[in-house]
Amino acid sequence: MPAPSRPAPSAPTQTPAAAGLVALADRCVQCGLCLPHCPTYQTDRSEAESPRGRIAYIRAVATGQLAPSAAGDTHLDHCLGCRRCEAACPAGVRYGELLLGARTEQARRRPLPARTRAILALLARPRLLARLVMLRRRLGRALPSAWRGPLPPAPAPVALPRPAPGPAAPVALFAGCIARPFESPARAALARLLAAAGQGVVLPEGQGCCGAAAAHAGDASGAARLAATNRAAFAGQTKVLCLATGCQDTLARSLAGVTPVEDALVALERVAGALRFRTPLHRVALHLPCTQRSVVRSDAALRALLARVPGLDLVELPDTGCCGAAGLHQLAEPARAAALRTPLLDALAASGAKELLSANIGCRLHLAGGTTIPVRHPIEFLAEHLA
Ligand code: SF4
Ligand code: SF4
Repeated sequence: MPAPSRPAPSAPTQTPAAAGLVALADRCVQCGLCLPHCPTYQTDRSEAESPRGRIAYIRAVATGQLAPSAAGDTHLDHCLGCRRCEAACPAGVRYGELLLGARTEQARRRPLPARTRAILALLARPRLLARLVMLRRRLGRALPSAWRGPLPPAPAPVALPRPAPGPAAPVALFAGCIARPFESPARAALARLLAAAGQGVVLPEGQGCCGAAAAHAGDASGAARLAATNRAAFAGQTKVLCLATGCQDTLARSLAGVTPVEDALVALERVAGALRFRTPLHRVALHLPCTQRSVVRSDAALRALLARVPGLDLVELPDTGCCGAAGLHQLAEPARAAALRTPLLDALAASGAKELLSANIGCRLHLAGGTTIPVRHPIEFLAEHLA
């Protein structure tokens, strides 16, 4: 399909938000080099499901040259926010920023569905969410299947060890929202690995969801409230480590000027010379989330860490674009999310691996929903194989 032609200059009545969107969209030279990298374009083979098509729609609506339509908004809804297009773009289009702005405008003219609002309200209350997840774990199969929801069973909680007194100030861990109950073994594993390298960790009280889900749904004010909560919770910390590649960018933006945020794998790799690992007994598969490849870019650190495990039999799953999780996309668009997941699960089944490693909580929950092979954070695997 040919590229859409460049619309005429912006209308003079634009709001500042619309003018900002036009300025971001105007960086696009419509070369189409991002199209082969876009998972939704690969699936649908439609310009409207491509980065270039979405940018053209956002611009046309922002300039007033096109009235928002249900079809156009649906194509925007389908965007996974994976930002593979941004990583591939030679013109420096800040697609992630453009998408968040467009979704905010979209939410102003088209109120969020009640289910999305309910999910965002729950994500904004991680302690309540964790209690509900653990209640569901305790009730298990006694719950009617319709009440169990799409999540796999939560792991047993693992307490974080107290930091041993030492010369280095402890670093803070970010717990997140749904990751709070599901990632407790990964946080404890990270604490164990860092302790072996002489580094303590703390889990500051009062922290909350990073706000990525709210921002991607267009709830900019909800995302701003969560950012303020985290700024207060992490004030005074020397550094914050993030285990979820899908949360890190939003968290880092929220804490800019307060404290630096670093991927836990990058931080661990820096001190990994002090660590020794033993040989695993089984084959392991590795999934690299799109946020890890295109946004956080901690895939090199993860590969370097895994290369330290002697005799590791590792199979890297193919880069199929996106697993389909994409925050709330897996709940809002379950059929599309499952279709994007299928090639990865087929590759996993064919690999002969006994477990799958993935560094993003959303991807792990989504992938675990389609396989009986255990799915863990790479940090858990590494801690289990500490010599
Ligand atoms: S963010 Fe991902 S799904 Fe959305 S347009 Fe870019 S590459 Fe496609
Ligand atoms: S690669 Fe960049 S400039 Fe080219 S179409 Fe995609 S977003 Fe536009």
